[in-house]
Amino acid sequence: MRMTRLFLRTLRDDPADAEVPSHKLLVRAGYVRRVAPGVYSWLPLGLKVLAKVERIIREEMDEIGAQEVRFPALLPREPYEATNRWTEYGPNLFRLKDRKGNDMLLGPTHEEMFTLLVKDLYSSYKDLPLSLYQIQTKYRDEARPRAGILRGREFIMKDSYSFDVDDAGLEAAYQAHRAAYVRIFDRLGFEYVIVKADSGAMGGSASEEFLAVSPTGEDTFVRSPGGYSANVEAVTTVAPDPVPYDGIPAAHAEQTPDTPTIDSLVDHLNAAFPRDDRSWEAGDTLKNVLVILRHPDGTREPLAIGLPGDREVDAKRLETQVAPAEVEPFEQKDFAAHPGLVKGYIGPGALGSESTTGIRYLTDPRIVDGTRWVTGADVQGSHVIDLVAGRDFTSDGTIEAAEVRAGDPAPDGSGPLELARGIEMGHIFQLGRKYAEVLDLKVLDQNGKLVTVTMGSYGVGVSRAVAAVAEYAHDESGLVWPRELAPFDVHLIVAGKDETVVAGAEQVYADLVGEGFDVLFDDRLGKVSPGVKFKDAELIGVPTIVVVGKGFVDGVVEVKDRSTGERRDVPLVDLVTALRD
Ligand code: ATP
Ligand code: MG
Repeated sequence: MRMTRLFLRTLRDDPADAEVPSHKLLVRAGYVRRVAPGVYSWLPLGLKVLAKVERIIREEMDEIGAQEVRFPALLPREPYEATNRWTEYGPNLFRLKDRKGNDMLLGPTHEEMFTLLVKDLYSSYKDLPLSLYQIQTKYRDEARPRAGILRGREFIMKDSYSFDVDDAGLEAAYQAHRAAYVRIFDRLGFEYVIVKADSGAMGGSASEEFLAVSPTGEDTFVRSPGGYSANVEAVTTVAPDPVPYDGIPAAHAEQTPDTPTIDSLVDHLNAAFPRDDRSWEAGDTLKNVLVILRHPDGTREPLAIGLPGDREVDAKRLETQVAPAEVEPFEQKDFAAHPGLVKGYIGPGALGSESTTGIRYLTDPRIVDGTRWVTGADVQGSHVIDLVAGRDFTSDGTIEAAEVRAGDPAPDGSGPLELARGIEMGHIFQLGRKYAEVLDLKVLDQNGKLVTVTMGSYGVGVSRAVAAVAEYAHDESGLVWPRELAPFDVHLIVAGKDETVVAGAEQVYADLVGEGFDVLFDDRLGKVSPGVKFKDAELIGVPTIVVVGKGFVDGVVEVKDRSTGERRDVPLVDLVTALRD
């Protein structure tokens, strides 16, 4: 490929809407181009990298015996109606109507379609195990499309699905996928962690995520010195044992004027009701946070969350717990609808399905029986002291919605947690019989009995991977692709207008292509200075840059390593060997 031909304009400035390095550089270096929020075109350079990511994924999927298929992205409503995802997906689903008025959608993921296809064609245990995959465009109307192709509304995913007659088969398929993912992400070259992705309600390793470790990632994960790692959404709180409360005085309401916040309350307690043993702290208070759950059918339900006053509600953890409902703020009109709620002074007395408000009340797992709290008295300017859980109030259950903090204990006892950020690159999930049951995918087993098939579902963000690699593979001058993903093997530059040099560069180009190298040849002459060419080469990020310049008359060219910056003169006769090495 010649630079004078390549469909490319590099940009000097970062795009105005770009915040993260991969977004800035992929646009500036001419790999992708924005069409609409979260919707991007792939230009020649970008498409080449994307194809290389796809190739790695295909090789590893084929290696575990999965077979490639391709479904349409345009899908009928009915299968998604059957599993209720037409409703559950809510506003994230792109819905449309055909000319006859039939509802259709653009597929956000394809469990339904794969299940129905296998049901169509297979009927016996002898047909299984089976793993199918596709590399295909997905559509999700994300609330916050962000960071270019990292979170698109149209994006490319590799999704696979395994089909087995029994749990052991599913476990084997899951482990095979897990191993394939390890090889895929090793080859993509970024630092990644494998984290537990659900709170364990479905057992052991039912779901894990592969996160690229990156400060710009949207996912927070935790790890402990003893090897525990989990997505922050999946961390379970270590609840203390219940404590006896025989000696605790009866709860008493006190005047605490102008203390609608935890800080103002703690200050007031220390001034007006000092403790003998130590000062009052935020963690002694029980804070009750109100939100509205919007269910997929549109109904709004208030929810109260009780948690120690030194912790905030973590929006993502809460969203995971209440999905498919979405979380919305509790508004003035909601207070108006529940006159029993005194803003700033809400206590358990006004909460719970048994209370006058009837608002569902879920508490943090740390609020075990016998724990003693200061909390709102449901009266303006008043709090209750010595309110004991299990004695003076109960909740409708617990919820894992409080923030996880560095230093919190790992649930498996493997030490204090450390927090870091990552980009979700892959997700493997033992679906079990959920979809097969609803869509009636059954096969005859060895005894001629109909059994429901058990499934796994496994995804890799293919387009996201291009950005995730760029997120670490760059420096201040531009992209620095790992060799296996680079759009070209060699970026050849002619530096000089001298006839011999130009002819020499043409010869080197022809030779390298003849030797099987994929070469981008910057053959621009005229006004394009060597300096501009070097800048573009650094921005584009091909790992090896070869410069044909003044040294050519002495039979040498310069070979530069894009990642280390190291340059050396190489005799022309040794060039091919040097590049191979
Ligand atoms: P996220 O939590 O980032 O929204 P998800 O859990 O919804 O992702 P899955 O349904 O597990 O994603 O999809 C499988 C993979 O597809 C993800 O691991 C991720 O790499 C990729 N992916 C998901 N959503 C997007 C998106 N909007 N843009 C690009 N890639 C995505
Ligand atoms: Mg996921």
